[in-house]
Amino acid sequence: MSRDGEMREKVNKFESEPVSYRALPAIAFTNSSSSPENRNNNPLSKASQILFYQYVEPEWSKAKMKSVLGFMRQVGDELGVTGRGRISQEGANCTLTAKDPHSAREFCNRLRKFDKIFEETDFKITDMVEHSQRFKRLTLVPKDELVAYGLEKEKAPSLKQNKSKHVNAIEYHEMLKDKDSVVIDVRNHYEVDIGRIEPPEGGATFLNPEMRNSREFPKWLNLPETKKQLEGKRVMMYCTGGIRCERASALISQMERVGDLKETKGIAMVRGGVDRYLKTFPESGGFWKGKNYLFDLREAQMAEKEGELEMTSKCCACERAWSKYEGKFVCGDQKCKVPVLVCDGCRNVIEANTKKNSFVKRQKKGSNGNTWNANKTKSDDKNDPHDVKNLRCPLCKVGKELRSIEPVDSAAQKRLLTLEGGNAKINASNKRPRKESKTLFIGKLPLSVTATEIKSALKLNDDNNAEIEWMMDSKSGFFYGSAVVKLASKDRCRSLLEQYKKDPPRIQNKFIAVGYFDEDWKNKNRKKMKEKEKKKDNDAKEDGGKKRRLAEEEYKRLFRKGERPPVT
Ligand SMILES: [Zn+2]
Ligand SMILES: [Zn+2]
Repeated sequence: MSRDGEMREKVNKFESEPVSYRALPAIAFTNSSSSPENRNNNPLSKASQILFYQYVEPEWSKAKMKSVLGFMRQVGDELGVTGRGRISQEGANCTLTAKDPHSAREFCNRLRKFDKIFEETDFKITDMVEHSQRFKRLTLVPKDELVAYGLEKEKAPSLKQNKSKHVNAIEYHEMLKDKDSVVIDVRNHYEVDIGRIEPPEGGATFLNPEMRNSREFPKWLNLPETKKQLEGKRVMMYCTGGIRCERASALISQMERVGDLKETKGIAMVRGGVDRYLKTFPESGGFWKGKNYLFDLREAQMAEKEGELEMTSKCCACERAWSKYEGKFVCGDQKCKVPVLVCDGCRNVIEANTKKNSFVKRQKKGSNGNTWNANKTKSDDKNDPHDVKNLRCPLCKVGKELRSIEPVDSAAQKRLLTLEGGNAKINASNKRPRKESKTLFIGKLPLSVTATEIKSALKLNDDNNAEIEWMMDSKSGFFYGSAVVKLASKDRCRSLLEQYKKDPPRIQNKFIAVGYFDEDWKNKNRKKMKEKEKKKDNDAKEDGGKKRRLAEEEYKRLFRKGERPPVT
């Protein structure tokens, strides 16, 4: 963009701000809208849209969730508010339409009065929506998760403890110019395909995880090459309305805290998602290129300067430039089935084909299986790009898939953070490595692990000196997925860790954490125990032998040998 262009950029500051804890935006009347002949410009004669989501932490009880669901249904019916929503113990996510702008605002205010948590909610209200775009009914569905990441309940990374920054669209726009940033599009590939943020030259690096659905995000994050791309960078992310960034950013932050990811320069997401970004830069679209895929009844959202946008997406049947999802066509691969782009021309051919094929099938049934005919139809099907079964999405065309990758083990990371007081740093590639020692610490082990599995993962099968000891939690006495491996020398430890950096060890398909074990453990523990003893019998004059004995006893209690971790 030219300097001039930048200066003339229309920026809608108001749109970039959230409405949390303040009055909802007033209805915008134009001067002429009050006259009856101008009904088309009068927002009161049009419908409105309400988009919002709200996470709650700690989560709602089941009873509370049901009462929220009941309240929304009741008020929705009363005010003529329709649409779709997911309600979960972790919160609510709704795309709604109201019959007029007043009932839209009334709905939000009633929710705010019903529960204080909705004061925090950033309701996005759009007026002047055509009545034809209103939803027919209100469908609120109870779900385990607001976004299907596969990160429910004990797997859900905490939004409160894992802090990431919400920045407004104007700040976000500036950050996109920074070359030390990466920007992750957290949406599915079929959405990214028709429109996305394109950072300026010399700015942030764009990352597309190429997902078929959100469940693949924790898998993509677990790839070593992904982690490499995030390390040392400011991690920016965005999605349509902001909700998908919430858990996604919490997961990245959690990985950083347990040392599964090297330190980043912080995590930032744009408040209100692409929706707000485009409303803030209504003319140029900022760094946005193409269309914003929407799940509601509006057509895809885009900036006004449509002509400048280059189209890179293609019709999946004829490869012609195309960017409109119409006719509900999906990828013909049974495991995939994501929406695919089909141009108008191909759409006509496909629809005619489908009719013809069902006719041929009926004919065949009638003639009781003419084999020659059946064979001919089969080979035709395989080569015909206009057969619905042969439509393939861009990911299937190049054989991209994340399905078989193990997701980040978020539950184990959460356990670790609880046990280590939220400051676990265990990775071998940690910025501040622990002091060198003869003992390796290994963490993030599956609870069903065996000593043999560890030895083979750490390439220690032939090392007769290597000795594995399971670590038990000092308070509960339970095995929690950590162990130590005693080796012959510090040199041996160092060279192994170098190897693991290049080829990270896995057990049961999951990466484990490896680093030096702090051999000062005994000393630290001795000091702690001494204090304990002091309190207990006020005996400050205990002899050295007793102290040593106590430390050894404690060590025996917390470090156990055996093929399997002991069950206490
Ligand atoms: Zn086509
Ligand atoms: Zn596909």
